[in-house]
Amino acid sequence: MAVFECDRCGRCCGSLGLHITLERQLNDRDYYCRSVIDNTIFYAHVDPEYREEIADEFETENTPPHGPEKKTCRFLRKDHGGKGMVCAIYATRPKVCRDFRCYRMLIRTREGATCGRVIGKNTIRTEDAALEKLWNGQVAAIPYGDPAAWVKNVTGILAEHGYRADPVE
Ligand code: SF4
Ligand code: SF4
Repeated sequence: MAVFECDRCGRCCGSLGLHITLERQLNDRDYYCRSVIDNTIFYAHVDPEYREEIADEFETENTPPHGPEKKTCRFLRKDHGGKGMVCAIYATRPKVCRDFRCYRMLIRTREGATCGRVIGKNTIRTEDAALEKLWNGQVAAIPYGDPAAWVKNVTGILAEHGYRADPVE
């Protein structure tokens, strides 16, 4: 089994994050928020680096005229120290974010190098043209009704062609 590793690219935060609402501000770093997807309240502690901008936005949103609606998670921020995006509440992010897996299987070469990822039910992301052809020709159409049987079936087909399937925990 592979251990899921989030590289914090922030791609999922557009959809997941729109379902997070601020319920109450406790101070300029701490909030009670609601995760609408599982209807749970969680405590969010903002990284000190992003405290001011998030607190300012919160104030603007609650003072008429209200600002534009957010198109992504309010806690997704431009990384002050780099070029990417960061979650400003990463250590206290809600369960839906912690549990989210954007891929559910890794595919490895004989040597163990990762050469593909399976996302959704049976879509592959790979730069390996032979693997892509194999997947689309022999794997993609396999019914997913029984997940354990699917994994066994797919593992066998990949193994015949020198690949190893590694489902994510
Ligand atoms: S779960 Fe996946 S899509 Fe979301 S931030 Fe992590 S690596 Fe990116
Ligand atoms: S709380 Fe963090 S991990 Fe969750 S959607 Fe927002 S930015 Fe992404």
